Amino acid sequence: MALVADPKSVKVNVTTGTGMDIEWKDGHHSVYSFPFLRDACPCALCNEEREKDGRQPGDPLKPVAGSLPMFKAAARPTQVEPVGKYAIRFSWNDGHQHGIYSWEFLREHCPCSECKVRRAMEAPAISSRPN
Ligand SMILES: [Zn+2]
Ligand SMILES: [Zn+2]
Repeated sequence: MALVADPKSVKVNVTTGTGMDIEWKDGHHSVYSFPFLRDACPCALCNEEREKDGRQPGDPLKPVAGSLPMFKAAARPTQVEPVGKYAIRFSWNDGHQHGIYSWEFLREHCPCSECKVRRAMEAPAISSRPN
């Protein structure tokens, strides 16, 4: 199925810290929280980390068994800049800044329940994950 990966409007709510809203040209509306976006960072480094853990983009880090949960400040961007017409780049408050999020990637990983169901149907092999 071809997805429309062309945003009509993009709002990054840095001051309120709530996340990013994208309205797509086909009328779909996506809301991404900043922690989700941080955990979905598409750079090679983060991709590798996720593959090791078997996480999907946007899945939070798995707690290490037996260790105390470490306090981590909620992810927030320190800088947001457009990359041409096709992507947006975030610099994060933990110093990470290699993530370039293309509209296509963001649309593909829309966290709304409708898109989650669609992805689960397209990839039954990984639908055994809880949530
Ligand atoms: Zn990254
Ligand atoms: Zn969606």
